[in-house]
Amino acid sequence: MVIRNIFSLTCALLLLAACAKSGGEEQVIERAFYSMGSEMEFKLYCPQSAKCTDAVNEAHEEVQRLDYIFSNYRDDSVLAEVHLNAEKGPVKVPREFIELTRRSLEFSELTGGAFDITVGKIFELWKKAGETGNAPTKIEIENALKCVGYKKVNLFPKRGEISLNPACVRLDYGAIGKGYAVDKAVGILKKFGIRRGIVNFGGNIYALGPPPGKDGWVIGIKDPLDSSESMIEIIVREQGVATSGDYERFFEIEGKRYSHIIDPRTGVPSTGVKSSTVVSGDAATADALATAFSVLHESESISSLKRIEKLMPLDVFIIRGDSEDGGKFLSDGFKELVYYRDGH
Ligand code: AMP
Ligand code: MG
Repeated sequence: MVIRNIFSLTCALLLLAACAKSGGEEQVIERAFYSMGSEMEFKLYCPQSAKCTDAVNEAHEEVQRLDYIFSNYRDDSVLAEVHLNAEKGPVKVPREFIELTRRSLEFSELTGGAFDITVGKIFELWKKAGETGNAPTKIEIENALKCVGYKKVNLFPKRGEISLNPACVRLDYGAIGKGYAVDKAVGILKKFGIRRGIVNFGGNIYALGPPPGKDGWVIGIKDPLDSSESMIEIIVREQGVATSGDYERFFEIEGKRYSHIIDPRTGVPSTGVKSSTVVSGDAATADALATAFSVLHESESISSLKRIEKLMPLDVFIIRGDSEDGGKFLSDGFKELVYYRDGH
């Protein structure tokens, strides 16, 4: 996914002053920082640039704090501590850990287990296979699946504790954490009174209010077969947007490409969906559901869509590689977001 015009190539962080353009009473400020393995990019409308700078600095601190909580790359994260101590019983965790885990478990319920943060053990197995080049055996998959399943996680919100049963369960927030971080950053921007802007964190987007005089932010959705091209454009405001797909991150095993999104129900990388884009009310929901729609089979995705859209805003665009009709599915709500430059 690309945001059109969000950053001109010449607009590096050091050239900020030069990049601040006048937008009526407000200035357009473009900023970025690196965290969680991706760049978080901001395009904001601010009455004074100092306010945007302070807001982005606070957002940076917050995202670093979330990384320290949820990272599965750091030995000193709260997540690492949970895994280390799971054997001994419930582990005390910060409020955000309970919050994001609770939401993740709800998304598992809503998607019939297609989205599942307990995918860690099986994900590690496929990741290792990608490194060695040898596919996991059936037995290895069966063994890893014993440590997978969202019902194996118990939360005790009042005590601020989590338990994993069995203790071999490995949590992985990779499919929701960036979206969640975007929402937290947006909360900080709003606290600073920033109402217009857009945030992009590795393809997890939240669009605040639109630029002055515009109806929304135009976002291009990449063609999974040629990711240098935008396939369609949509226009959004006060919405979260995310795309999941197998075209950017994948494992290569015995000459074959496998998706980095695993079907937790079978323990095998998902097949069929080339890309799925979700627009919802917040970025964490869009992130989680875009991953889920990459797993769900065609008939399952229609029934899930119908069920979930009764509960929350949900517009989806799915491209299947295994369909005879070119495989593009746009929900009715998504069709209304499509942006036609010539007005049609
Ligand atoms: P995303 O790019 O948001 O679709 O997230 C993909 C990442 O989430 C993977 O790299 C894994 O770390 C993790 N993951 C893989 N499959 C699943 C799944 N079915 N449910 C939840 N997380 C998953
Ligand atoms: Mg996701």
